Amino acid sequence: MPKTAYSQRFKRELDPEQLLSLLGYDLKSDPDLKNLSGELRDEIHRDLLCPECGVSGGVIVSRSKSTKSNKALRQPHFRFLAGDNNSAHHPLCDHYDDSSIKSKKEQLIDFGNDRSFETRIIRELVAKGIEQKIISQQTIRDMRQWFFDTKIRHQFTMDVSQDSLQWIFKISGLFSHRGIPFKPIHAELPNFDWRHAAILQFVEENRHLINIVRDRWWGYDKKIEKRALKFVEQTQGKTVFDVTKLEKQYKKTIELACFMVRNLRLFERNQYFAEQDLRLGITTGVVSAFVALLLYITDWDVDAAISKLVAIVQAPTPTDMNAGNVIGLNPFHDFAVWANIMKAREVAQHSFNGFDYEAQIETIEQRLKKQYDEWKTAKS
Ligand SMILES: [Zn+2]
Repeated sequence: MPKTAYSQRFKRELDPEQLLSLLGYDLKSDPDLKNLSGELRDEIHRDLLCPECGVSGGVIVSRSKSTKSNKALRQPHFRFLAGDNNSAHHPLCDHYDDSSIKSKKEQLIDFGNDRSFETRIIRELVAKGIEQKIISQQTIRDMRQWFFDTKIRHQFTMDVSQDSLQWIFKISGLFSHRGIPFKPIHAELPNFDWRHAAILQFVEENRHLINIVRDRWWGYDKKIEKRALKFVEQTQGKTVFDVTKLEKQYKKTIELACFMVRNLRLFERNQYFAEQDLRLGITTGVVSAFVALLLYITDWDVDAAISKLVAIVQAPTPTDMNAGNVIGLNPFHDFAVWANIMKAREVAQHSFNGFDYEAQIETIEQRLKKQYDEWKTAKS
């Protein structure tokens, strides 16, 4: 569900609260949008475009609350449907699957989250940047378009199996496995560890694949593995985008985002964990979205982007806080997850022994035992 939509009337990207406030509607006095007139709803429907793929016909959906706890489950958001409750978005649009019914857990968004400290700061910086004419609604649109065009250019049909993905997550943990290679005499020792010997042998025989994984490995995290497996399952046979084509831009964005988070004290929590989340691309990403915009307007030059950042930070308080919005614009969300999926695809092209790790270890163990038996027979 896009948190923001492009308003043709106001020529900018807005979240529901900003849009309603510009339309003179007071969301605070009617948070469930019970009194929003059909006329105004129609006007909104004609006006809104998806901020990413540009599809028209958005509707505003009010927040939903848990009947038990009275806590907000979902913030007000936009939805773009094409009859029969199907998604109207382009299949490569990030919001394509938004209309499908997701698990309750996924819908559970902290209502206060969107008004978090970093979101407020970023919103102010965007407003300042626009007032100072460093960024504009047009540059935000252009960047959106550039990312979307890049996606369209580098699409492919998802063919990565869950088995191969699980296998590379498994072998990624074997990077530093070293030891004395097996010789039959080792097994004369009373507690000889056959399994360990088999794993060492496996590493030896698969060194070329482990090296592929190791080269530009996008970090291991249980959350990354879980999401990668889920994405592969959900997109099997569907059109997806090769994120590695944006690797250069992603790295610069993350480096600059970490720099900004640290030097503007954007997170109250531990700096190390904030940076780690940014690197894994699993945070809300408002910071990444803003930083990507600064880099986009400076042709991905980090020093030039920092100069723009300093100018924006030093600018006076903006008169219009609704001047702009980049909240829904993180072109790199889940980048690490997708990069790992691409890695599995690359490894699968070089692997000829299947992806059943346990069976592979078992086969090697049996082979080593056979070698030991033969050695023992020859010795006696
Ligand atoms: Zn869309």
